[in-house]
Amino acid sequence: MSDERLRIAIQKSGRLSDGSFELLKNCGLKISRGRDKLYGRVRELPIDVLLLRDDDIASFVADDACDIGIVGENVFEEEALTDGHDAPAALVMKLGFAHCKLMLAAPKEWTFNGPSMLEGKRIATSYPGLTAAWLKREGVAAKPVMMKGSVEVAPRLKIGDAVCDIVSTGATLDANGLKPVATVFESEAILIRNQTAFTPEKQAVFDALLTRIRGVMMSRDAKYIMMNAPRDAIAAITEFLPGAEAPTVLDLAGYSDKVAIHAVCRESVFWDTLESLKKLGASAILVLPIEKMMA
Ligand code: ATP
Ligand code: ZN
Repeated sequence: MSDERLRIAIQKSGRLSDGSFELLKNCGLKISRGRDKLYGRVRELPIDVLLLRDDDIASFVADDACDIGIVGENVFEEEALTDGHDAPAALVMKLGFAHCKLMLAAPKEWTFNGPSMLEGKRIATSYPGLTAAWLKREGVAAKPVMMKGSVEVAPRLKIGDAVCDIVSTGATLDANGLKPVATVFESEAILIRNQTAFTPEKQAVFDALLTRIRGVMMSRDAKYIMMNAPRDAIAAITEFLPGAEAPTVLDLAGYSDKVAIHAVCRESVFWDTLESLKKLGASAILVLPIEKMMA
């Protein structure tokens, strides 16, 4: 592709789109587009955004129509297993949102005592590749039956004995007399790229975007935490802080036995974290969000 602008494909509307737009926004990219548009331009960097059905993203990236894309790992892996593309798109990194599980579900009246129960059964699914791979790993000879949608009605229609589908709350399964019995695949949104080498200009844009994405992901759960503490509690507090590197220790004017401790915590800071810090002698504890980070 001769165009020097990096082309990124994201889902137009659906369960991946809010997270994808938010990630790009947090990377400092403003996308000018209308909800109905299929294409958006970014002003800050030479990047164009294509808004597509999630099912088209991996093949558009593989076929060079786009350079990179954001898809569900479930869809990406399924296509890798079933498509037989010569040069499929490659996984760059996991993005930490749109978590979901592909689960095997069976009629509620089954007493499920392991995958071997599925021997010789038909399993209705939109993910025949991932389902077959799991059955193979479990050493069970069962037959995936492809269904594009409404998989959960299959047992009632006698199309399948069990189903394998994306489950969030389990309410849909429950309403159809089914219960989840095993996790087949755990998925989240991922960044994928075309396998052809980018031009140096495009590579530079891609590298800049990746650095920003890493920064956004690092700062997602990270907090800046500040507190006063007895000088002799520094070691205990440092040890306790979740995911913190060497904290900054500052003298407090007018106190020789007390210091201020500042640290970046890369993991979630909960109320019980603060309570434990207090027990270690900390006081005046402040927890602040971190907007941006670059390693
Ligand atoms: P499109 O119109 O783009 O084809 P779709 O209806 O096929 O959309 P969505 O339901 O928006 O797809 O789901 C897209 C992806 O979001 C899934 O493939 C999966 O990776 C992820 N996802 C996250 N949570 C859920 C969930 N609770 N149910 C289904 N998918 C989920
Ligand atoms: Zn889809």
